[in-house]
Amino acid sequence: MAINFPAGFLSYAEEWEKKINAFIEWRPDAPEPAEADAPKPAPEGMPNSPAAGVPPGLAEFPFAVKDNIAVKDFSLSCGSKLLEKFRSPYSATVVRRLEAAGARVIGKTNLDEFGMGSSTDNSALGRTNNPWDLERVPGGSSGGSAAAVAAGIVPYALGTDTGGSVRQPAAFCGVVGLKPTYGAVSRYGLVAYASSLESAGVLADTVERCRAVFSIIRGPDPLDETSHGAPAAAPPLYPAAGTDRPAGRRIGVLSPGAIARALAAAAEAAGGEGGALEAAAQASVLEEETRRGFELARARFSELGHTLTEVEIPSLKYGVPAYYTIAAAEASANLARFDGVRYGARPGCAENPDELVDKAREAGFGAEVKLRILLGTFVLRSGFQDRYYLRAQRIRQGIRRSFESLLGDGEYREQAKLDAILMPVFPSRAFGRGASSLSAFAQKAADLYTCCANLAGLPSLSFPASVEGGLPVGVQILGRAWAEGTLFDIAGGYEKKYPFPRPEGYRAFWS
Ligand code: GLN
Repeated sequence: MAINFPAGFLSYAEEWEKKINAFIEWRPDAPEPAEADAPKPAPEGMPNSPAAGVPPGLAEFPFAVKDNIAVKDFSLSCGSKLLEKFRSPYSATVVRRLEAAGARVIGKTNLDEFGMGSSTDNSALGRTNNPWDLERVPGGSSGGSAAAVAAGIVPYALGTDTGGSVRQPAAFCGVVGLKPTYGAVSRYGLVAYASSLESAGVLADTVERCRAVFSIIRGPDPLDETSHGAPAAAPPLYPAAGTDRPAGRRIGVLSPGAIARALAAAAEAAGGEGGALEAAAQASVLEEETRRGFELARARFSELGHTLTEVEIPSLKYGVPAYYTIAAAEASANLARFDGVRYGARPGCAENPDELVDKAREAGFGAEVKLRILLGTFVLRSGFQDRYYLRAQRIRQGIRRSFESLLGDGEYREQAKLDAILMPVFPSRAFGRGASSLSAFAQKAADLYTCCANLAGLPSLSFPASVEGGLPVGVQILGRAWAEGTLFDIAGGYEKKYPFPRPEGYRAFWS
Protein backbone atom coordinates (compact mmCIF):
# COMPACT_ATOMS: atom_id res chain seq x y z
CA MET A 1 0.00 0.00 0.00
CA ALA A 2 1.44 3.35 -0.98
CA ILE A 3 1.85 6.03 1.66
CA ASN A 4 -0.90 8.63 1.92
CA PHE A 5 0.97 11.91 1.82
CA PRO A 6 -0.73 15.06 3.08
CA ALA A 7 -2.10 17.30 0.33
CA GLY A 8 0.58 19.47 -1.24
CA PHE A 9 3.43 17.52 0.35
CA LEU A 10 4.97 15.96 -2.76
CA SER A 11 5.28 19.22 -4.66
CA TYR A 12 6.62 20.93 -1.51
CA ALA A 13 9.26 18.20 -1.12
CA GLU A 14 10.23 18.26 -4.78
CA GLU A 15 10.61 22.01 -4.79
CA TRP A 16 12.99 21.87 -1.81
CA GLU A 17 14.86 18.93 -3.24
CA LYS A 18 15.60 20.87 -6.44
CA LYS A 19 17.34 23.48 -4.29
CA ILE A 20 19.12 21.34 -1.71
CA ASN A 21 19.71 17.97 -3.44
CA ALA A 22 19.59 16.06 -0.16
CA PHE A 23 18.77 12.69 -1.73
CA ILE A 24 20.82 10.21 -3.71
CA GLU A 25 17.62 8.25 -4.26
CA TRP A 26 14.16 9.79 -3.80
CA ARG A 27 11.38 7.19 -3.86
CA PRO A 28 8.22 8.33 -2.13
CA ASP A 29 6.35 5.62 -4.07
CA ALA A 30 8.54 2.71 -2.90
CA PRO A 31 6.45 -0.43 -2.26
CA GLU A 32 5.67 -1.49 1.28
CA PRO A 33 8.41 -3.79 2.70
CA ALA A 34 7.48 -7.47 2.43
CA GLU A 35 5.76 -8.95 5.48
CA ALA A 36 8.42 -11.66 5.74
CA ASP A 37 10.98 -8.99 6.41
CA ALA A 38 9.43 -7.58 9.52
CA PRO A 39 11.57 -8.51 12.54
CA LYS A 40 9.95 -10.32 15.43
CA PRO A 41 9.05 -7.89 18.19
CA ALA A 42 11.10 -8.24 21.36
CA PRO A 43 9.31 -10.09 24.16
CA GLU A 44 6.85 -7.96 26.10
CA GLY A 45 8.15 -6.24 29.16
CA MET A 46 11.86 -6.39 28.25
CA PRO A 47 13.46 -3.09 29.19
CA ASN A 48 14.65 -2.79 25.60
CA SER A 49 11.71 -4.18 23.74
CA PRO A 50 11.81 -1.82 20.78
CA ALA A 51 8.54 -0.01 21.32
CA ALA A 52 8.36 -0.03 25.14
CA GLY A 53 6.82 3.19 26.36
CA VAL A 54 6.84 5.06 23.06
CA PRO A 55 3.96 7.47 22.79
CA PRO A 56 2.28 6.58 19.51
CA GLY A 57 2.28 9.00 16.63
CA LEU A 58 5.85 10.33 16.64
CA ALA A 59 7.71 7.82 14.54
CA GLU A 60 5.16 6.22 12.16
CA PHE A 61 6.07 8.55 9.33
CA PRO A 62 8.08 8.55 6.15
CA PHE A 63 11.76 8.85 6.97
CA ALA A 64 15.06 9.16 5.12
CA VAL A 65 18.18 7.03 5.53
CA LYS A 66 21.80 7.99 4.99
CA ASP A 67 23.13 6.07 2.00
CA ASN A 68 25.62 4.03 4.05
CA ILE A 69 22.80 2.24 5.93
CA ALA A 70 21.23 -0.72 4.14
CA VAL A 71 17.59 -0.60 3.00
CA LYS A 72 16.46 -3.60 0.94
CA ASP A 73 16.21 -2.83 -2.80
CA PHE A 74 17.42 0.75 -2.31
CA SER A 75 20.76 2.24 -3.27
CA LEU A 76 23.71 1.73 -0.89
CA SER A 77 26.27 3.94 -2.62
CA CYS A 78 28.04 5.38 0.45
CA GLY A 79 28.49 8.50 -1.70
CA SER A 80 31.15 6.63 -3.69
CA LYS A 81 31.64 6.01 -7.42
CA LEU A 82 32.72 2.53 -6.46
CA LEU A 83 29.25 1.58 -5.18
CA GLU A 84 27.17 3.91 -7.34
CA LYS A 85 25.20 1.05 -8.87
CA PHE A 86 25.02 -1.21 -5.80
CA ARG A 87 21.54 -2.10 -4.48
CA SER A 88 21.18 -3.54 -1.01
CA PRO A 89 19.87 -7.10 -0.71
CA TYR A 90 18.72 -6.60 2.90
CA SER A 91 17.80 -3.93 5.46
CA ALA A 92 19.71 -2.81 8.53
CA THR A 93 18.21 -3.67 11.93
CA VAL A 94 17.54 0.02 12.67
CA VAL A 95 15.51 0.30 9.47
CA ARG A 96 13.59 -2.93 10.09
CA ARG A 97 12.65 -1.86 13.61
CA LEU A 98 11.24 1.43 12.34
CA GLU A 99 9.37 -0.32 9.53
CA ALA A 100 7.89 -2.77 12.01
CA ALA A 101 6.65 0.24 14.00
CA GLY A 102 4.86 1.56 10.90
CA ALA A 103 7.42 3.96 9.45
CA ARG A 104 8.40 3.96 5.74
CA VAL A 105 11.66 4.81 3.96
CA ILE A 106 11.14 7.39 1.20
CA GLY A 107 14.72 7.98 0.17
CA LYS A 108 18.46 7.59 0.67
CA THR A 109 20.45 10.69 1.51
CA ASN A 110 23.76 12.12 0.41
CA LEU A 111 26.94 11.91 2.52
CA ASP A 112 30.68 12.41 2.44
CA GLU A 113 32.13 9.32 0.78
CA PHE A 114 32.02 6.44 3.31
CA GLY A 115 31.26 9.00 6.04
CA MET A 116 34.65 10.72 5.73
CA GLY A 117 34.25 14.47 5.99
CA SER A 118 32.42 17.40 7.56
CA SER A 119 30.64 19.05 4.62
CA THR A 120 29.06 16.35 2.39
CA ASP A 121 31.14 17.94 -0.41
CA ASN A 122 33.32 14.79 -0.33
CA SER A 123 30.43 12.90 -1.96
CA ALA A 124 31.22 11.65 -5.46
CA LEU A 125 27.50 11.73 -6.29
CA GLY A 126 26.48 15.37 -6.06
CA ARG A 127 26.48 18.40 -3.84
CA THR A 128 23.95 19.04 -1.06
CA ASN A 129 23.09 22.61 -0.01
CA ASN A 130 22.10 23.96 3.38
CA PRO A 131 18.36 24.91 3.50
CA TRP A 132 19.25 28.05 5.50
CA ASP A 133 21.60 29.33 2.80
CA LEU A 134 22.00 27.42 -0.46
CA GLU A 135 25.56 28.69 -0.91
CA ARG A 136 26.66 26.92 2.26
CA VAL A 137 27.33 23.28 3.11
CA PRO A 138 24.88 21.26 5.23
CA GLY A 139 27.76 19.84 7.29
CA GLY A 140 28.71 16.19 7.23
CA SER A 141 28.99 13.48 6.83
CA SER A 142 25.21 12.97 7.34
CA GLY A 143 24.54 16.25 5.48
CA GLY A 144 21.74 14.93 3.26
CA SER A 145 19.80 13.60 6.25
CA ALA A 146 20.22 16.89 8.16
CA ALA A 147 19.16 19.01 5.16
CA ALA A 148 16.10 16.83 4.47
CA VAL A 149 14.91 17.18 8.09
CA ALA A 150 15.66 20.91 8.23
CA ALA A 151 13.64 21.52 5.04
CA GLY A 152 10.67 19.60 6.48
CA ILE A 153 10.82 16.87 3.79
CA VAL A 154 10.96 14.22 6.52
CA PRO A 155 10.32 14.58 10.26
CA TYR A 156 13.40 12.48 11.02
CA ALA A 157 16.24 10.67 9.30
CA LEU A 158 18.91 8.14 10.19
CA GLY A 159 22.62 8.93 10.06
CA THR A 160 25.87 7.53 11.38
CA ASP A 161 28.23 9.25 13.81
CA THR A 162 31.86 8.14 13.96
CA GLY A 163 33.39 11.44 14.97
CA GLY A 164 30.50 13.92 14.83
CA SER A 165 28.70 13.10 11.58
CA VAL A 166 25.22 13.32 13.10
CA ARG A 167 25.75 16.16 15.60
CA GLN A 168 27.71 18.54 13.36
CA PRO A 169 25.31 18.55 10.36
CA ALA A 170 22.42 18.79 12.86
CA ALA A 171 24.05 21.94 14.23
CA PHE A 172 24.68 23.36 10.74
CA CYS A 173 21.06 22.80 9.68
CA GLY A 174 19.29 23.66 12.95
CA VAL A 175 17.89 20.22 13.88
CA VAL A 176 18.31 17.72 16.72
CA GLY A 177 21.08 15.10 16.41
CA LEU A 178 21.72 12.12 18.69
CA LYS A 179 24.86 10.00 18.90
CA PRO A 180 23.83 7.18 21.24
CA THR A 181 25.98 5.28 23.76
CA TYR A 182 28.32 2.90 21.93
CA GLY A 183 26.47 -0.40 21.55
CA ALA A 184 23.00 0.99 22.38
CA VAL A 185 21.94 0.67 18.75
CA SER A 186 22.71 -2.23 16.41
CA ARG A 187 25.29 -1.59 13.69
CA TYR A 188 24.03 -4.51 11.58
CA GLY A 189 23.52 -3.13 8.07
CA LEU A 190 25.76 -0.08 8.47
CA VAL A 191 28.67 0.08 6.04
CA ALA A 192 31.57 0.21 8.48
CA TYR A 193 34.01 3.11 8.51
CA ALA A 194 35.58 2.89 12.01
CA SER A 195 33.76 0.17 13.92
CA SER A 196 34.96 0.94 17.46
CA LEU A 197 33.84 4.58 17.22
CA GLU A 198 30.65 4.57 15.23
CA SER A 199 26.99 4.39 15.98
CA ALA A 200 23.78 4.84 14.05
CA GLY A 201 22.20 8.12 15.09
CA VAL A 202 18.98 10.08 14.71
CA LEU A 203 18.38 13.51 13.15
CA ALA A 204 14.96 14.93 14.00
CA ASP A 205 12.85 18.07 14.01
CA THR A 206 12.12 17.94 17.74
CA VAL A 207 13.63 16.42 20.87
CA GLU A 208 10.55 14.26 21.54
CA ARG A 209 10.64 12.82 18.03
CA CYS A 210 14.33 11.99 18.47
CA ARG A 211 13.53 10.26 21.76
CA ALA A 212 10.71 8.23 20.19
CA VAL A 213 12.85 7.10 17.25
CA PHE A 214 15.74 6.17 19.55
CA SER A 215 13.39 4.16 21.77
CA ILE A 216 12.41 2.08 18.73
CA ILE A 217 15.85 1.49 17.20
CA ARG A 218 17.84 0.80 20.38
CA GLY A 219 18.27 -2.51 22.15
CA PRO A 220 20.30 -5.68 21.71
CA ASP A 221 20.42 -7.38 18.33
CA PRO A 222 21.60 -10.96 17.85
CA LEU A 223 23.09 -9.84 14.52
CA ASP A 224 25.50 -7.39 16.21
CA GLU A 225 27.65 -8.82 19.00
CA THR A 226 28.61 -5.33 20.20
CA SER A 227 24.99 -4.31 20.82
CA HIS A 228 23.68 -4.20 24.37
CA GLY A 229 20.56 -3.53 26.36
CA ALA A 230 20.63 -0.68 28.86
CA PRO A 231 21.64 -1.87 32.34
CA ALA A 232 18.82 -1.94 34.90
CA ALA A 233 20.37 0.99 36.78
CA ALA A 234 20.28 3.28 33.73
CA PRO A 235 17.90 6.24 33.94
CA PRO A 236 14.66 5.40 32.12
CA LEU A 237 14.26 6.79 28.63
CA TYR A 238 10.80 8.01 29.56
CA PRO A 239 10.04 9.12 33.09
CA ALA A 240 7.58 6.72 34.74
CA ALA A 241 3.97 7.85 34.49
CA GLY A 242 3.05 10.35 37.18
CA THR A 243 6.62 11.30 38.08
CA ASP A 244 8.09 14.64 37.19
CA ARG A 245 11.42 15.01 35.46
CA PRO A 246 13.84 16.61 37.87
CA ALA A 247 14.26 20.19 36.66
CA GLY A 248 17.53 21.33 38.18
CA ARG A 249 20.41 19.28 36.81
CA ARG A 250 24.12 19.66 37.44
CA ILE A 251 25.70 20.65 34.16
CA GLY A 252 29.43 21.08 33.56
CA VAL A 253 30.41 23.65 30.96
CA LEU A 254 33.47 22.80 28.92
CA SER A 255 34.86 26.23 28.28
CA PRO A 256 35.92 26.66 24.66
CA GLY A 257 38.53 29.17 25.84
CA ALA A 258 40.15 26.55 28.06
CA ILE A 259 40.41 24.09 25.16
CA ALA A 260 41.99 26.72 22.92
CA ARG A 261 44.51 27.56 25.66
CA ALA A 262 45.40 23.90 26.18
CA LEU A 263 45.94 23.46 22.46
CA ALA A 264 48.08 26.58 22.21
CA ALA A 265 50.19 25.37 25.16
CA ALA A 266 50.66 21.98 23.48
CA ALA A 267 51.78 23.73 20.28
CA GLU A 268 54.27 25.79 22.20
CA ALA A 269 55.63 22.78 24.06
CA ALA A 270 56.24 21.09 20.71
CA GLY A 271 58.57 23.96 19.82
CA GLY A 272 59.63 24.21 16.18
CA GLU A 273 57.69 21.06 15.33
CA GLY A 274 54.43 22.52 16.54
CA GLY A 275 53.31 24.04 13.23
CA ALA A 276 50.44 21.64 12.73
CA LEU A 277 49.41 21.84 16.39
CA GLU A 278 49.42 25.61 16.21
CA ALA A 279 47.22 25.58 13.14
CA ALA A 280 44.94 23.09 14.90
CA ALA A 281 44.72 25.37 17.94
CA GLN A 282 43.64 28.22 15.71
CA ALA A 283 41.07 26.10 13.92
CA SER A 284 39.37 25.19 17.18
CA VAL A 285 38.77 28.76 18.35
CA LEU A 286 35.07 29.58 18.18
CA GLU A 287 33.97 32.23 15.70
CA GLU A 288 32.19 35.21 17.24
CA GLU A 289 28.64 34.02 16.37
CA THR A 290 29.17 30.47 17.63
CA ARG A 291 30.59 31.84 20.86
CA ARG A 292 27.54 34.06 21.25
CA GLY A 293 25.18 31.11 20.69
CA PHE A 294 27.12 29.02 23.20
CA GLU A 295 27.04 31.74 25.86
CA LEU A 296 23.33 32.23 25.28
CA ALA A 297 22.70 28.49 25.81
CA ARG A 298 24.74 28.61 29.01
CA ALA A 299 22.73 31.60 30.33
CA ARG A 300 19.42 29.99 29.39
CA PHE A 301 20.37 26.76 31.15
CA SER A 302 20.94 28.65 34.42
CA GLU A 303 17.70 30.50 33.89
CA LEU A 304 15.94 27.14 33.48
CA GLY A 305 17.09 26.15 36.96
CA HIS A 306 20.18 24.05 36.22
CA THR A 307 23.37 24.44 38.24
CA LEU A 308 26.36 25.18 36.00
CA THR A 309 30.04 24.75 36.76
CA GLU A 310 33.07 25.19 34.52
CA VAL A 311 35.07 22.05 33.81
CA GLU A 312 38.34 21.36 32.02
CA ILE A 313 39.55 18.24 30.27
CA PRO A 314 43.23 18.78 29.47
CA SER A 315 43.60 15.44 27.63
CA LEU A 316 41.17 16.68 24.98
CA LYS A 317 43.98 18.50 23.23
CA TYR A 318 45.14 15.16 21.85
CA GLY A 319 41.63 14.06 20.91
CA VAL A 320 41.83 14.83 17.20
CA PRO A 321 45.19 13.12 16.53
CA ALA A 322 43.99 10.07 18.50
CA TYR A 323 40.65 10.03 16.66
CA TYR A 324 42.21 10.25 13.18
CA THR A 325 44.83 7.61 14.01
CA ILE A 326 42.22 5.11 15.20
CA ALA A 327 39.60 6.01 12.57
CA ALA A 328 42.09 5.74 9.69
CA ALA A 329 43.50 2.45 11.01
CA GLU A 330 40.04 0.89 11.21
CA ALA A 331 38.98 2.38 7.86
CA SER A 332 41.98 0.87 6.09
CA ALA A 333 40.87 -2.57 7.29
CA ASN A 334 37.12 -2.06 6.77
CA LEU A 335 37.47 -0.72 3.24
CA ALA A 336 39.68 -3.59 2.10
CA ARG A 337 36.54 -5.44 0.98
CA PHE A 338 35.90 -2.91 -1.80
CA ASP A 339 38.19 -4.48 -4.35
CA GLY A 340 36.05 -4.70 -7.48
CA VAL A 341 35.71 -8.47 -6.96
CA ARG A 342 33.47 -8.91 -3.95
CA TYR A 343 32.07 -5.40 -4.01
CA GLY A 344 32.45 -2.40 -6.21
CA ALA A 345 32.54 -1.52 -9.89
CA ARG A 346 34.86 -3.86 -11.78
CA PRO A 347 37.26 -2.36 -14.34
CA GLY A 348 36.74 -3.38 -17.99
CA CYS A 349 40.10 -5.12 -18.42
CA ALA A 350 43.06 -6.14 -16.29
CA GLU A 351 46.12 -8.33 -16.91
CA ASN A 352 45.97 -10.04 -13.52
CA PRO A 353 44.03 -9.97 -10.21
CA ASP A 354 46.36 -7.41 -8.58
CA GLU A 355 45.90 -5.03 -11.45
CA LEU A 356 42.14 -5.53 -11.30
CA VAL A 357 42.03 -4.52 -7.63
CA ASP A 358 44.39 -1.58 -8.22
CA LYS A 359 42.31 -0.28 -11.09
CA ALA A 360 39.00 -0.70 -9.26
CA ARG A 361 40.25 1.20 -6.20
CA GLU A 362 42.08 3.84 -8.20
CA ALA A 363 38.95 4.68 -10.22
CA GLY A 364 36.40 4.08 -7.47
CA PHE A 365 37.70 5.89 -4.38
CA GLY A 366 37.88 9.66 -4.01
CA ALA A 367 40.96 11.55 -2.77
CA GLU A 368 39.89 11.79 0.90
CA VAL A 369 39.21 8.05 1.12
CA LYS A 370 42.59 7.22 -0.44
CA LEU A 371 44.32 9.59 1.97
CA ARG A 372 42.77 7.86 4.97
CA ILE A 373 43.51 4.35 3.72
CA LEU A 374 47.15 5.38 3.28
CA LEU A 375 47.25 6.99 6.71
CA GLY A 376 45.65 3.88 8.24
CA THR A 377 48.14 1.47 6.70
CA PHE A 378 50.96 3.82 7.74
CA VAL A 379 50.02 3.86 11.43
CA LEU A 380 49.54 0.08 11.43
CA ARG A 381 52.91 -0.80 9.79
CA SER A 382 54.70 -3.49 11.74
CA GLY A 383 57.24 -1.98 14.11
CA PHE A 384 55.43 1.35 14.23
CA GLN A 385 52.25 0.41 16.05
CA ASP A 386 53.68 1.48 19.42
CA ARG A 387 54.43 4.90 18.10
CA TYR A 388 51.00 5.72 16.69
CA TYR A 389 48.16 3.26 17.11
CA LEU A 390 48.86 2.07 20.67
CA ARG A 391 49.61 5.60 21.78
CA ALA A 392 46.30 6.76 20.34
CA GLN A 393 44.54 3.97 22.25
CA ARG A 394 46.17 5.17 25.49
CA ILE A 395 45.00 8.74 24.84
CA ARG A 396 41.54 7.35 24.18
CA GLN A 397 41.52 5.65 27.60
CA GLY A 398 42.65 8.90 29.22
CA ILE A 399 39.85 10.89 27.59
CA ARG A 400 37.26 8.30 28.58
CA ARG A 401 38.51 8.40 32.18
CA SER A 402 38.39 12.22 32.28
CA PHE A 403 34.75 12.21 31.21
CA GLU A 404 33.85 9.38 33.57
CA SER A 405 35.40 11.14 36.55
CA LEU A 406 33.42 14.32 35.79
CA LEU A 407 30.19 12.41 35.24
CA GLY A 408 30.68 9.94 38.09
CA ASP A 409 30.57 7.01 35.69
CA GLY A 410 32.58 3.82 35.18
CA GLU A 411 35.15 3.32 37.95
CA TYR A 412 34.09 6.69 39.41
CA ARG A 413 30.48 5.63 39.85
CA GLU A 414 30.56 6.16 43.60
CA GLN A 415 31.24 9.85 43.27
CA ALA A 416 28.26 10.97 41.19
CA LYS A 417 28.89 14.50 40.08
CA LEU A 418 27.60 16.06 36.89
CA ASP A 419 24.50 14.99 34.97
CA ALA A 420 25.77 16.33 31.66
CA ILE A 421 28.50 18.41 30.04
CA LEU A 422 27.61 21.33 27.78
CA MET A 423 30.01 21.77 24.85
CA PRO A 424 30.20 23.50 21.48
CA VAL A 425 29.60 21.24 18.48
CA PHE A 426 31.86 22.93 15.93
CA PRO A 427 33.87 26.17 15.99
CA SER A 428 31.88 27.74 13.14
CA ARG A 429 28.35 27.82 11.77
CA ALA A 430 27.74 26.26 8.34
CA PHE A 431 30.64 27.36 6.17
CA GLY A 432 30.53 28.31 2.50
CA ARG A 433 32.37 27.03 -0.54
CA GLY A 434 35.36 28.40 -2.42
CA ALA A 435 37.05 31.27 -0.59
CA SER A 436 34.71 31.06 2.41
CA SER A 437 35.30 27.33 2.88
CA LEU A 438 37.40 25.66 5.57
CA SER A 439 40.55 23.80 4.52
CA ALA A 440 40.48 20.00 4.80
CA PHE A 441 42.97 20.33 7.65
CA ALA A 442 40.90 22.93 9.54
CA GLN A 443 37.81 20.75 9.16
CA LYS A 444 39.61 17.84 10.79
CA ALA A 445 41.04 19.98 13.61
CA ALA A 446 37.52 21.27 14.26
CA ASP A 447 36.28 17.73 15.00
CA LEU A 448 37.76 18.21 18.48
CA TYR A 449 34.42 18.99 20.10
CA THR A 450 32.56 16.03 18.63
CA CYS A 451 35.09 13.20 18.33
CA CYS A 452 35.64 12.86 22.08
CA ALA A 453 32.12 11.42 22.63
CA ASN A 454 33.02 8.69 20.13
CA LEU A 455 36.42 8.06 21.72
CA ALA A 456 34.73 7.76 25.13
CA GLY A 457 31.70 5.79 23.83
CA LEU A 458 29.32 8.21 25.55
CA PRO A 459 25.96 9.55 24.33
CA SER A 460 25.73 13.13 23.12
CA LEU A 461 22.82 15.19 21.85
CA SER A 462 23.16 18.28 19.68
CA PHE A 463 20.31 20.79 19.38
CA PRO A 464 19.81 24.32 18.05
CA ALA A 465 20.63 26.90 20.73
CA SER A 466 19.97 30.03 18.68
CA VAL A 467 20.19 31.68 15.28
CA GLU A 468 23.11 34.07 14.85
CA GLY A 469 23.61 36.11 11.69
CA GLY A 470 20.86 34.17 9.92
CA LEU A 471 22.37 30.72 10.59
CA PRO A 472 21.63 28.20 13.35
CA VAL A 473 24.16 27.58 16.13
CA GLY A 474 24.04 24.17 17.78
CA VAL A 475 25.34 23.06 21.17
CA GLN A 476 25.72 19.54 22.52
CA ILE A 477 25.20 17.91 25.88
CA LEU A 478 27.19 14.81 26.64
CA GLY A 479 26.11 12.36 29.35
CA ARG A 480 26.88 9.13 31.18
CA ALA A 481 26.70 5.88 29.28
CA TRP A 482 23.03 4.82 28.84
CA ALA A 483 21.75 8.19 30.10
CA GLU A 484 20.14 9.30 26.83
CA GLY A 485 16.91 9.85 28.79
CA THR A 486 18.60 12.55 30.88
CA LEU A 487 19.89 14.30 27.75
CA PHE A 488 16.41 14.28 26.18
CA ASP A 489 14.93 15.70 29.40
CA ILE A 490 17.46 18.56 29.50
CA ALA A 491 17.22 19.45 25.79
CA GLY A 492 13.43 19.02 25.84
CA GLY A 493 13.18 21.58 28.63
CA TYR A 494 15.20 24.02 26.53
CA GLU A 495 13.06 23.45 23.44
CA LYS A 496 9.85 23.96 25.41
CA LYS A 497 10.99 27.42 26.45
CA TYR A 498 12.89 28.28 23.26
CA PRO A 499 11.24 26.49 20.32
CA PHE A 500 13.65 25.50 17.56
CA PRO A 501 14.01 27.79 14.54
CA ARG A 502 13.07 26.78 10.96
CA PRO A 503 14.47 28.07 7.67
CA GLU A 504 12.43 30.37 5.46
CA GLY A 505 9.89 28.47 3.36
CA TYR A 506 9.55 25.64 5.92
CA ARG A 507 6.11 24.09 6.31
CA ALA A 508 5.25 21.65 9.07
CA PHE A 509 3.69 18.56 7.47
CA TRP A 510 4.54 16.10 10.20
CA SER A 511 3.42 17.48 13.54
N1 GLN B 1 34.49 14.64 10.30
C1 GLN B 1 34.69 13.33 10.81
C2 GLN B 1 35.52 12.53 9.84
O1 GLN B 1 35.69 12.96 8.76
C3 GLN B 1 33.35 12.72 11.05
C4 GLN B 1 33.12 11.37 10.48
C5 GLN B 1 31.88 10.66 10.92
O2 GLN B 1 31.36 10.88 12.01
N2 GLN B 1 31.43 9.73 10.07
O3 GLN B 1 36.03 11.51 10.14
